[in-house]
Amino acid sequence: MIVLKTERELKLMLEACRISAEALKMAGEALEPGMTTAQLDSLIRKFIKSKGATPTFLNYNGFPGSACISLNDEVIHGIPSHKRVISEGDLVSVDLGACINGYTGDTAATFAVGQISPEAKRLCDTTRESLYEGIRCAVVGGRLGDIGHAIASYCEQRGYGVVREYTGHGVGRTLHEDPAVPNYGTPGRGVRLLPGMTIAIEPMINQGSAAIKTMSDGWMVKTTDGKLSAHFEHTVAITRDGPLIMTQL
Ligand code: MG
Repeated sequence: MIVLKTERELKLMLEACRISAEALKMAGEALEPGMTTAQLDSLIRKFIKSKGATPTFLNYNGFPGSACISLNDEVIHGIPSHKRVISEGDLVSVDLGACINGYTGDTAATFAVGQISPEAKRLCDTTRESLYEGIRCAVVGGRLGDIGHAIASYCEQRGYGVVREYTGHGVGRTLHEDPAVPNYGTPGRGVRLLPGMTIAIEPMINQGSAAIKTMSDGWMVKTTDGKLSAHFEHTVAITRDGPLIMTQL
């Protein structure tokens, strides 16, 4: 069931989205070589709590961190660990949410640590751009397939693999609501977009093949070919005035 939010609910949810966005920005600025993913996670948890919110991901389906932190060929769902040291030249994908007022935001970005290769930068730029291509289609009267098609075509034209096993989703009182928001689709097909829908759009884009594998911890997802992956995500409200990017500062 798709839950449409009222103006009042959107206002409450905006605060959760703003704190999520601020936490993500803080994480990107705090990143440095030598830091462990557990240290970064701890900074994120403390930041979210300092705003009077709670980290949505912590204990969600048993997830042990406040953020998913995935490096290089890790696509999503990296568990923060004291054993994972962040190095110069790494790509670090951080996915997090903050919950306050009974609503949650959900946002992600891939950050570069120091100097990265031109190929890695192109992957990140393309993934970020594809998110905005998708967001442009998040308009009243459009269809979910418009969003997915915009993302997939943008990335596949540039030679990248679009992960299909994981999707964006509705978000609001809970982290995952209907509908699923795939990063592929057929224009003009799928759920009709209505005012008050709030969805997380989140392309997960691989440098090589779209194929992925889940690791033995049951969480971490990696590319099967060992090539890089990037992930950008915003929580977006569909309004009569166009897409409202709720997790944009
Ligand atoms: Mg999400």
